[in-house]
Amino acid sequence: MFDKILIANRGEIALRIHRACKEMGISTVAVHSEADAGAMHVRLADESVCIGPAPISKSYLNIPNIIAACEISGAQAVHPGYGFLSENARFAEIVEAHGFTFIGPRPEHIRMMGDKIAAKVAAKSAGIPVVPGSDGALSSEEEAKAAAESIGFPVLIKAAAGGGGRGMKVARTRTELPEALATAKAEAKAAFGDDSVYLERYLSTPRHIEVQVIADSFGAVCHLGERDCSLQRRHQKVMEEAPSPAIDAAARARIGETVTKAIGSLGYLGVGTIEFLYESGEFFFIEMNTRLQVEHPVTEAITGIDLVREQIRIAAGLPLSFTQEEVTFEGHAIECRINAENPRTFAGSPGLITDFHAPGGLGVRLDSAMYAGYTIPPYYDSLAGKLIVHGRDRTECLARLKRCLGEMVVGGIETTIPLFQDLLAEPDIREGRYHIHWLEEWLKAAR
Ligand code: ADP
Repeated sequence: MFDKILIANRGEIALRIHRACKEMGISTVAVHSEADAGAMHVRLADESVCIGPAPISKSYLNIPNIIAACEISGAQAVHPGYGFLSENARFAEIVEAHGFTFIGPRPEHIRMMGDKIAAKVAAKSAGIPVVPGSDGALSSEEEAKAAAESIGFPVLIKAAAGGGGRGMKVARTRTELPEALATAKAEAKAAFGDDSVYLERYLSTPRHIEVQVIADSFGAVCHLGERDCSLQRRHQKVMEEAPSPAIDAAARARIGETVTKAIGSLGYLGVGTIEFLYESGEFFFIEMNTRLQVEHPVTEAITGIDLVREQIRIAAGLPLSFTQEEVTFEGHAIECRINAENPRTFAGSPGLITDFHAPGGLGVRLDSAMYAGYTIPPYYDSLAGKLIVHGRDRTECLARLKRCLGEMVVGGIETTIPLFQDLLAEPDIREGRYHIHWLEEWLKAAR
């Protein structure tokens, strides 16, 4: 096992990884930008190294400086968290080439799944059902038209290098197609430096259901059930729950088995998430994420499995500490993403946190980088913390969540806490009747 791990991230996820390390007797090295010198992940780590100025291109994405931090600190392995360099195959290769262990999947799998066209091809050939769409990248408007006609409108144009919901455009009719294609291409070029796009059927009321998988270097592959992440704004998750209110045990076992077989046949290593849209009882693959997800705690809550601990064990060459038969699902968990944002306009609200009180009690987990006196810098993602609540069933979970949201105090800045309080009062949310467009429609109606 490693003695020292460098955490190449910031915020709540850096803390999350630090916590797993400490419980395993591993010391931690935090890296930080000049703007993050006072951040909690730096304060709690055993050591810290400043890797550059505030802009992420100069710090959290600065590969030479991160490698130098490994060398200076004597860390043996690097945990990339999510975002930043976590799905950068080149980074994984550079880490390994310098004699350190990358805590994550093999570079070839990161690369394959990072190209969403290649990922769909791989998923399809491994027996996973995919959203009907164009066979590959669209090279012309004519090709796009032909593909759209054969699939049927509406269609969604998506960036091959996509992520974070960017580079996605809907075309409802043939006339809308040229403009949607041009906009998606321009957005993809600007965001990812790659304007390859493809097209798939635009599903009108699906749920976003994703399956957590984990594989070790001995060929063991397990699935840890699903998460329902249908509550979204601009294709970005807002609240997640496990299990999904829309899936029964038979559907769970069916999709779990399909996914486990496929992941085994790919020779995948580490944790991964296979994302599906689920409509009329059918699963359609959209993409695979080759990293830990923001919403992993809901799976941890219902399975009792520490996913970061398993990631570290797998990277150290140890077997999974459980078998599929030993995985059980207990109760219900919901996660709310507490963002430093206005709860209605979603305008960022960085600044000084003057007051802070964390909710507590049975079944309550707060993964947060916040504390009273902390100034949230304006340079990074607005996710400030995650409130995860576990109950014996969904009803108890909702009651506990409502209680916790009422208890939590974050003074001095705006947060999305009031948004969740309003959402919990909605019958559709209480009854689990929502799809991926529900939140946008609700926000529009509330305006
Ligand atoms: P990204 O990598 O940018 O997050 P995804 O492929 O994971 O992109 O899709 C993000 C979200 O966009 C999905 O959760 C869903 O809400 C929406 N979406 C993606 N594909 C489709 C589709 N074919 N039809 C309708 N909505 C879609």
